[in-house]
Amino acid sequence: MSFSDNVVSTAWNRAGGKCECTRKGCDHTGRCNKALNWGERGKETAGGWEAHHINRNGGDVLSNCEILCQDCHKNTQSFGN
Ligand SMILES: [Zn+2]
Ligand SMILES: [Zn+2]
Repeated sequence: MSFSDNVVSTAWNRAGGKCECTRKGCDHTGRCNKALNWGERGKETAGGWEAHHINRNGGDVLSNCEILCQDCHKNTQSFGN
């Protein structure tokens, strides 16, 4: 299961190129808003990020796509969401 390039680029624009995470278990309060680099998807770098499935069974649609920095993406795995 993976998002199409179109869904990812639309989600990226919606996010403004920043992490969209609002999880309470992270170190940030409110939205993370970490600035990311488009060319660093999937990379373990300061500007690295992932296109995350909000709901594991929610499909590859825009509403189920969340742009996350690497730190927040790791938290989704430990929280199970
Ligand atoms: Zn983040
Ligand atoms: Zn977070």
